[in-house]
Amino acid sequence: QQAKEAETRQLPAKTTDGTHILIGANINLPDQVAEAISEGAEGVGLMRTEFLYLERNDEPSEDEQYETYLAMSKNLEGRELIVRTLDIGGDKQAPQLALPQEDNPFLGVRGSRLLLRRADLLQPQLRALYRALKDGAKLSIMFPMVTSVTEFLKLRAICEDVRESMAAPSCPIGVMIEVPAAALEAETLAKHADFFSIGTNDLTQYCLAMDRQNPTLAAEADSLHPAVLKLIKLTVDGAKDHNCWVGACGGIAGDPHGAAILSGLGVTELSMSPLDIPAVKARLRQSSMDELKALAQKALEAETSEAVRQLKGVE
Ligand code: PEP
Ligand code: MG
Repeated sequence: QQAKEAETRQLPAKTTDGTHILIGANINLPDQVAEAISEGAEGVGLMRTEFLYLERNDEPSEDEQYETYLAMSKNLEGRELIVRTLDIGGDKQAPQLALPQEDNPFLGVRGSRLLLRRADLLQPQLRALYRALKDGAKLSIMFPMVTSVTEFLKLRAICEDVRESMAAPSCPIGVMIEVPAAALEAETLAKHADFFSIGTNDLTQYCLAMDRQNPTLAAEADSLHPAVLKLIKLTVDGAKDHNCWVGACGGIAGDPHGAAILSGLGVTELSMSPLDIPAVKARLRQSSMDELKALAQKALEAETSEAVRQLKGVE
């Protein structure tokens, strides 16, 4: 029985009519790869590099970062690896950086906004990533909290400068869609990005103006709110004609019902906590793509998050 269960987890998340939704794990350390794969991950859709700064007083050196990225890729043996550049600010603090206090940190200098102001953080991280690529790593680079095309074009240009100066191979460069402005401007961003990954945790927080950490609002701050789903739809529609695939790596991607709706909206890669993988794969294998699309359409038309949650979708 156990052996059969382990075998099922390794089956791809294919709809009954054969559409393959790529399933990634959200993990941060090379030694978490084995467990993620045994749960059924086909790669890593989100490596949060802030973890390199946690529980220590100093900053990780370029060498240490390089070794971590290379080890992560080696352990993945050719599977997808998306490395998200440093996302500090908001709920993610790094005391060793002694950043100025802000009145509204979630609306402040966080994610890519910080990286664009702090070459001393961005440059070593990019050098470490391109060194890993030069030494055979297979990875993509993804920028968090992008709000405008201008920001992304600057980040892409910096990547290209670093790559060129090191004569390193190029890699796909993607944008996290987690600010409503980015979802609304998805079509423009998609012309310049190789892929999108929707950060539904922040996208929900910023769409609904509800602090993702406020326990009083936790039930209402639902990523299946029809307004959030409309932003996700805009993102997928914007990317469609620009050779830019769309994934999702926020918490709702790891919820079976949420994963079914996202897939029906046209998201083709879902990345989640390893332990969520088996149930999500099992759910996606129950429906055809047409059924998932019909479910997503009903979700978009629903009036409330509660109504979206009650949609069954497996008839
Ligand atoms: C998100 O915002 O949905 C996301 C995946 O990033 P994080 O949770 O690290 O902010
Ligand atoms: Mg986020």
